[in-house]
Amino acid sequence: MKNTVAVIKCETYEEELVYRAVKKASELAGGFGSFLKPGMRVLVKPNLLAAFFPEAAVTTHPAVVKAVIRLVKEFQAVPFLGDCHGGILTGSNELLTKTGMIKCASETKTEIVSLEKLGSDNYGGLVISKAIKEFDVIINVGKFKTHMLTFLTGAVKNLFGLLPGMNKANMHRLYPKQKDFSMMLLKVAGIVKPAFNITDGITGMEGEGPSGGTPRQIGVIIAARDAVASDYIMGKIAGIDPLTLPVIKEAVAQGFNPAEMEVTGGPLEMFTVKDFRMPLSYGGDGGSVKENIFKRILKSVLFPLYWKLATVKPKIQNEKCQKCNACVRACPVEAIAYAFGFPKVKAKKCIECYCCHELCPHRAIALDTGFIVKLWLLVRRTEK
Ligand code: SF4
Ligand code: SF4
Repeated sequence: MKNTVAVIKCETYEEELVYRAVKKASELAGGFGSFLKPGMRVLVKPNLLAAFFPEAAVTTHPAVVKAVIRLVKEFQAVPFLGDCHGGILTGSNELLTKTGMIKCASETKTEIVSLEKLGSDNYGGLVISKAIKEFDVIINVGKFKTHMLTFLTGAVKNLFGLLPGMNKANMHRLYPKQKDFSMMLLKVAGIVKPAFNITDGITGMEGEGPSGGTPRQIGVIIAARDAVASDYIMGKIAGIDPLTLPVIKEAVAQGFNPAEMEVTGGPLEMFTVKDFRMPLSYGGDGGSVKENIFKRILKSVLFPLYWKLATVKPKIQNEKCQKCNACVRACPVEAIAYAFGFPKVKAKKCIECYCCHELCPHRAIALDTGFIVKLWLLVRRTEK
């Protein structure tokens, strides 16, 4: 059977248009009817990374969440709204209000569930919310964004949100290497097994995501039964080779076959964003041949020095810092401590997981590039 991914154009968050786009995309990808039965309890799980307004494109837009809830109800199933969100650092109420979820829940008469309170189970070291047992079905409603560690985040990475509290940070500590972290993400996706994945790519995020980047109009809704397939197509829409994404690369190594995929909704070229800006950390094959050879020479000749100089470390901007402590609490290796009245990153301890950059509610954490990255960016600029 073909692994179908549907992509539908949608340029606005006007609710009726979003609903039609989500409905069309889900029908093309197999339809909610293929897994929903009347009376089923359905968890709708958006990306609620942190307390930002929907316009910031950090979280799934409430119009998309509303559309999914409306569709669930059309099948006489019972929707619930919930996530183990980054609100552990900023306060749940503030997060749910700012992201538009309280309004969305009240307008659709949907209960918001605190997944943290449901408790969790341990799956061989992976602590995952009991939500995966409490609900009959999970619909994963992610956001099309860049990510400093995984380069893009959409469907697969959104399921990592089902690890409660500081378990997420603990995973960063245990799996600091991109390959291991990607394997862990795939394991989580395999345990959670969402019935369906909808990705909000109407306004996505480019640059230094998942919270410090810039909103970017992409104009798509992606729907798929398979989270990996959905993210593969997201990579194509971002204009990159999906195999340069660590999660996709690892999925292929584990047997995922892109040749078995089918894309519906229109030719992919119609949706591709030509100049989508990937995060600083992305080397990929997005550069020219000249640039790749240059990087390869640097890597082989100056190998030990390379790793030291090719870093992208977080740097706290004191003038923006509100001393809220979120970064200190988020850091899995205690690499942030106060010095002279402000938090400071201890570069030697930092494992470059970017949790602090991701969760700083005031965008006070910049990314400081090493010498080689600076040089590489210069090469890219002069080539354009
Ligand atoms: S850098 Fe950001 S997260 Fe850290 S204390 Fe300052 S404002 Fe809070
Ligand atoms: S300082 Fe930031 S990037 Fe470095 S390990 Fe801590 S949370 Fe991760």
